[in-house]
Amino acid sequence: MGGSLGGLAAGLALKALGHDTTILERNPKPLLQDQGAGIVAGDDTLDFFARYNRCDRPVAIISHGRQYLDREGNIVHREEMEQSTTSWDLAYYLMRANYDGLKSAYCEVPGPVAGHGKAVHTHDRNVTDIKEEPSNHGTGGVRVFWQTSKGEAGSLHADIVVGADGPSSTIRNIVQPNTERRYAGYCALRGTLLEASASEPTRAVLRERLTFFHRPGVQVLTYLIPGEDGAVAPGKRYINFVYYANFPPGSAELEEIMTDRDGRRRAITMPPGMISASAWEKQRGLARARLPPQFAEVVCGAAKPFVQAITDVLSPEHEYWGGKVVLLGDALAGFRPHTVASTSQAAFDAMIFADYLAGKVSREEWKRETLGFARWIHKRGVDMGEHSQFMDLPLEDHIHDRNVASRPRQEEVYPEWATKF
Ligand SMILES: Cc1cc2nc3c(=O)[nH]c(=O)nc-3n(C[C@H](O)[C@H](O)[C@H](O)COP(=O)(O)OP(=O)(O)OC[C@H]3O[C@@H](n4cnc5c(N)ncnc54)[C@H](O)[C@@H]3O)c2cc1C
Repeated sequence: MGGSLGGLAAGLALKALGHDTTILERNPKPLLQDQGAGIVAGDDTLDFFARYNRCDRPVAIISHGRQYLDREGNIVHREEMEQSTTSWDLAYYLMRANYDGLKSAYCEVPGPVAGHGKAVHTHDRNVTDIKEEPSNHGTGGVRVFWQTSKGEAGSLHADIVVGADGPSSTIRNIVQPNTERRYAGYCALRGTLLEASASEPTRAVLRERLTFFHRPGVQVLTYLIPGEDGAVAPGKRYINFVYYANFPPGSAELEEIMTDRDGRRRAITMPPGMISASAWEKQRGLARARLPPQFAEVVCGAAKPFVQAITDVLSPEHEYWGGKVVLLGDALAGFRPHTVASTSQAAFDAMIFADYLAGKVSREEWKRETLGFARWIHKRGVDMGEHSQFMDLPLEDHIHDRNVASRPRQEEVYPEWATKF
């Protein structure tokens, strides 16, 4: 359920095991429209692509370190380390090419592999309900009910339902009602600027380094991501920014930023191109007043900014109905973006679920690792967000938070509460 990165990751991992899968995506259009934004490709995301991607092209851009600027734009701290960044749309099109052979300008479609399962991708399938039913083979199964945007309805039988339907998951609401998705009190203003359109001094500072700036209530970062159709050549890449600012719940500022150019109040995401001109003009002014000049230039130059209200949601469990329903990715735990772990969670959840089905890991290990990741990184995201948005801490504390968040998953030691089931 859900045809974004989590659903595709699960589909690909199960297909490679020989299982027949069907993805039901509610979006009425055949392709999900990207928000033109970047993702930090963590180890699990890269491992996932190494394992399942058969398209021959770069998946990510490698940055050589992190750096922090002061208000005047001087570099005040540097850390040497490799980090990979990519774009949501490149990840999506690569997964689609490998899953259901979707052709695009991003990559060649790889040929079929003997032994892989059947992969069916459907759109305009809004899943409205699931019900347990006995299967013909006596193993039990689930009936999945869907509706189209034109009101047509249908259902299909599944042995296992994977709920990869995002942070407001319908599947989670059915199997685990009362799991609340809560606004955290701040938003991320996001967007991109074509690298070639940035001034030379700005390009020179932001080039191939993740760059950050902190001040109380404000955090902004930039990194390079693939450009149009996945282009990775210098100049054709995008400078991606994520600019966090506080918009108190119920405040006039929040209403202003989340009310689109047609006067409609958006709940969580203001899509690219829909932000009201006056609200964005105000944010451009604030960016110039608050941010180092390089960041102000990138934010003010963005052609199609969008806004993401930051929320918290965590399902207490990931496996329901005796294993017939499994939640993964954002449906299991919607992390704050500071963790840079949402796509990695979806990739990891899919890989370890496939390993469990293949008998390579025990049920206990599957549960412990999946729940540990979800609960522990969820908590980390809340802590990082509270530190950066609501406390006045020295830069060293933010650097420390970010270094902890870069720790490889294999080195994490989950506390007992995080792995209890
Ligand atoms: C269109 C889109 C663009 C995104 N762009 C970015 C980006 O640029 N940068 C970034 O960091 N993150 C982005 N994200 C979020 C990112 O994909 C996730 O944080 C992460 O990869 C985990 O993905 P997920 O598949 O678990 O959840 P999500 O990406 O939230 O996907 C959930 C999917 O389930 C579908 N769905 C929801 N309810 C139903 C239902 N009842 N029936 C059927 N389908 C349903 C949704 O339409 C959606 O496609 C984007 C998500 C989407 C949907």
